[in-house]
Amino acid sequence: MKIRHSLALALSVLPVSAAIAGPKGQTVPSAPPPAPPQASPGGIWPPRQAPGYYRFELGDFEIVALLDGTHPFPATELAVGAKPGEVASLLAQNFLTSPVEGGFSAFLVRLPGKLVLIDTGAGDLYGRDGGLLVANLRAAGIAPEQIDEIYLTHLHRDHVGGLLMGGKVVFPRAIVRVAQGEADFWLNDANRGKVPAFLGSMFDGAQQCLKPYIAEGRFKPYAEGEALAPGITAIAAPGHTPGHHQYLVESRGKALLVWGDTVHVAPVQLPDPHVAMKYDTDPAAAVRSRETAFAAAADKGWWVAGAHISFPGLGHVRRTAPGSYAWIPANYALNRMPQ
Ligand SMILES: [Zn+2]
Repeated sequence: MKIRHSLALALSVLPVSAAIAGPKGQTVPSAPPPAPPQASPGGIWPPRQAPGYYRFELGDFEIVALLDGTHPFPATELAVGAKPGEVASLLAQNFLTSPVEGGFSAFLVRLPGKLVLIDTGAGDLYGRDGGLLVANLRAAGIAPEQIDEIYLTHLHRDHVGGLLMGGKVVFPRAIVRVAQGEADFWLNDANRGKVPAFLGSMFDGAQQCLKPYIAEGRFKPYAEGEALAPGITAIAAPGHTPGHHQYLVESRGKALLVWGDTVHVAPVQLPDPHVAMKYDTDPAAAVRSRETAFAAAADKGWWVAGAHISFPGLGHVRRTAPGSYAWIPANYALNRMPQ
């Protein structure tokens, strides 16, 4: 049991190309990534949807959800604080079993005169399970050179991985921003002993992916409370990582909470926000941050964008009972934007 458990953890942080081996030990060749959809001319509104990106309007802003990939998440083994059998039971109620395929999504915000990308997906750090972000960005009519700023929710490698592809800088102009406390934690090897050994790869990923941006003077951590772009506010939501932040995007009375890893497995953590994950550096704080976000999103009717919720990861949170919630996905629209 113990061996199976460690194996699952090890597999969950290994690139899939490394994890899959043929019956005689040889590596199964990776399939080429699917061809991106035909690029649509930028600026046409409303756009037609295609797999991999999903655009909608938020006041004066345009939001584009971008799929980087999906990856199996061993929810039953990674859950912390669940009642016996609870995770498997909640999954079964949603016709799912562990491991659950979870998305890697990033979210672009087009403000007047500025393009901000929130998170970057996994890049090539999860083999062929990630790395589609740029193709999907281009398909939505935007080139990586156009991105002005990148706001990271935290420095885990499925969020920073997309900064590099094949060791090369993907965003040649962008200023990369994350909370100072988050940068201080993952960029300092002295903290390696403060997390379980299987999270060591998170230090490697953060340091590798940020290195060229730091060298070019384009990595600018922000202080708590510091103003970012007009209409985008960083909200401290610690627990999953020490400096994990959400971004509240507001325009003309509309609001979208881009909540990063506030939720890993929606069918489990919406009904029971007390279920944390072994990836959380402080599970109790992660639970508090999740409860705060759920209550605010439900009470205020905010749109929510989740990095690991089934693509496009856009929807609302509804309170179903005190302390218990449900995820209401955005109603898919081809030619008309949701109101
Ligand atoms: Zn994540």
